Amino acid sequence: MSKIAVIGLGNMGGPMAANLVKAGHEVTGFDLAPGAISEARGAGITIAASAIEAAKGADVIVTMLPAGKHVRAVWGDLASIAKRDALLIDSSTIDVESARAVHALAEKAGLLSVDAPVSGGTGGAKAGTLTFMCGGSEAAFGAAKPVLEAMGKKIVHCGGAGAGQAAKICNNMILGISMIGVGEAFVLAEKLGLSHQALFDVASTSSGQCWSLTSYCPVPGPVPASPANNGYKPGFAAQLMLKDLRLSQEAAGAAGASTPMGALATQLYAIFAASGEAGTDFSGIIEMLRGEG
Ligand code: NAD
Repeated sequence: MSKIAVIGLGNMGGPMAANLVKAGHEVTGFDLAPGAISEARGAGITIAASAIEAAKGADVIVTMLPAGKHVRAVWGDLASIAKRDALLIDSSTIDVESARAVHALAEKAGLLSVDAPVSGGTGGAKAGTLTFMCGGSEAAFGAAKPVLEAMGKKIVHCGGAGAGQAAKICNNMILGISMIGVGEAFVLAEKLGLSHQALFDVASTSSGQCWSLTSYCPVPGPVPASPANNGYKPGFAAQLMLKDLRLSQEAAGAAGASTPMGALATQLYAIFAASGEAGTDFSGIIEMLRGEG
């Protein structure tokens, strides 16, 4: 059992902290939002008056915050007060540059640190089946793994500082692009008089096969659990996809990588989100492609 502080008890951090409690850890949390606090309290998390109070004496500090600027601010406050041998884990999805900056902050303070963004969404956070993509030293990853196992099913060490965030945005750039590709194929099939099921049956067992088609099909019918069968209720909201695509483009710009399809997908999701669909599941972009968005 470890003493764990969780800073950021929102849609993801709240259920992740609850799973740490279920695994027998002593969990203290902090959030700025009263709603998140009361829900976390109900799940057995002790609520502190500030992030600093939550982190004092903790063996492990987990942050699950909206963006890089929040993580930089919170780690900036905590690095100097954390226990000498404490481990810092950031599971937020943030820019690679901020991830590397907070690793450096931790290293300067003599602390182990891991960037460990997740995939699996709120469903995976509740079920404890998240995938963690980790960046950091072997020693930091080794220390983080048993903690992450209480919240996830697959824990992957991707490399040094920032490698987890790099893996996350590369994966989600594939996802954003592939969802648009699958959506366009269904829209074309409709115009050609080909049924959704016929396209699915062929493409799902042919070279067009991909996760956006076979696990998250953007038209109702072929994959009963996909958000298309539920009015495109998220799932994974378009605004979160847009956030990740923007991070991919920021990283591509900084690294000098050419990602024209990623750039176009970013533009299309920006248009979709700005049209009042920011909270719609990202697969709902098919309606915009069809001219109905
Ligand atoms: P959320 O907005 O529900 O939760 C973030 C929480 O952080 C909020 O409750 C907010 O009050 C709190 N917060 C902000 N600044 C703070 C501070 N200084 N101190 C303490 N608390 C603070 O967001 P979420 O859906 O839980 O996502 C968290 C992170 O996980 C994001 O980086 C997101 O991109 C990533 N993520 C989300 C999903 C998803 O499906 N929701 C999936 C994968 C990754």
